[in-house]
Amino acid sequence: MITAILGPPMNATTFSTLTCPACGFAKTETMPTDACQWFYECTQCHTLLKPKPGDCCVYCSYGTNPCPGRESL
Ligand SMILES: [Zn+2]
Repeated sequence: MITAILGPPMNATTFSTLTCPACGFAKTETMPTDACQWFYECTQCHTLLKPKPGDCCVYCSYGTNPCPGRESL
């Protein structure tokens, strides 16, 4: 019998909706919980997003939720 494993039980999957500053397109993405994502390419206009100065990742700059690592600061 195979038990489905959906992920580490201690880490809830974290979602954030990224809004492209160039075209306004918003897309919900899954954030990695153990790393910061520096670059994100808009799926609509293909603009390469980078974090704003002072932000550690694109989720902190353009997402509805800051990345998980931000909480430890
Ligand atoms: Zn865009």
